[in-house]
Amino acid sequence: MSTLRDVLASGTPSFSFEFFPPRTEAGSRTLWQAIRRIEALSPTFVSVTYGAGGSSRDRTVEVTRRIATETTLRPVAHLTAVGHSVAELRHIIGQYADAGVRDVLVLRGDPPGDPRAAWTPHPQGFTYAHELVNLVRESGDFSVGVAAFPERHPRSPDWSSDIRHFVAKCRAGADYAVTQMFFDVEDYLRLRDRVVAAGCDTPIIPEIMPATDARQIRRFAELSDARFPAALAARLEAAGGDPAEGHRIGVEYATVMAERLLAEGAPGLHYITLNRSTATLEIHRNIRSTRRGIRIPRSTHALAAAG
Ligand code: FAD
Repeated sequence: MSTLRDVLASGTPSFSFEFFPPRTEAGSRTLWQAIRRIEALSPTFVSVTYGAGGSSRDRTVEVTRRIATETTLRPVAHLTAVGHSVAELRHIIGQYADAGVRDVLVLRGDPPGDPRAAWTPHPQGFTYAHELVNLVRESGDFSVGVAAFPERHPRSPDWSSDIRHFVAKCRAGADYAVTQMFFDVEDYLRLRDRVVAAGCDTPIIPEIMPATDARQIRRFAELSDARFPAALAARLEAAGGDPAEGHRIGVEYATVMAERLLAEGAPGLHYITLNRSTATLEIHRNIRSTRRGIRIPRSTHALAAAG
């Protein structure tokens, strides 16, 4: 089977969906309904996030294994260095390989409980993602993705060190990067320009988060240090808790962002699903219509401000 590296090299924009490992039986049913709906679209890949500890990590491995063995989808397994010795990381990489998983999104991870707490590496583990990139690379024929941050990694003191370390991570063997969520296309374009100016051509896939619920997005944005535009927040709040109106606003905003990103040459789109498919599938359908020339994109700024 080809790796994602080969697929991205073809130049056709990828489209992909991100899930997280569910905690309950009901959550698992919802996830699998979403997976089956998304499978019908033949996306480029789907990814499963790696939990902060014990049982949730086992669930990541299990969901990824099931996707690899029971569906036609290409699973990308997230893997973080946090809290693991190198021997444990080797073991997990082996589990992925045994399940036929050939694509890994390599991350450092954040301190469990409080992402802003001081970072303490495992005594027999790694400090930075590029070390885990090396390990995955030397463990077999995997294609490797890494994280990119349109608004800069929150722990980077300045842009120049952020870009330097990002480029080093790519040169360690990353085939592509996926961004943190963001809500202003200009942030993505500036990051891409900085990376190119540093002599790195690793494709950076933008992550699309449908902002359908102001409270939820504000919480995610706080956790990830993403800026949540005040005008978009105001529009969602004006929806007054009407879920259908929040959904409409979030889908419309994300559609415009996604259209502009593709028009600017982004190598694909990676949708956060929160294990539900409705909003992301609507955005995806809108984009497919636009790409057939049916809709004309407006700027995200205009949309955010629209009442
Ligand atoms: P790194 O690349 O190691 O960078 C971390 C910081 O260290 C940066 O400031 C960087 O500039 C700096 N740095 C790097 N190398 C050096 C060096 N040699 N010397 C000094 N400083 C250096 N978290 C999860 O727990 N599970 C997930 O599944 C998950 N999925 C994610 C998916 C995406 C697309 C993204 C964007 C993030 C995801 N995260 C996930 C969150 C991620 O783990 C955190 O954002 C983490 O803080 C950053 O990881 P990184 O791989 O970018 O780290």
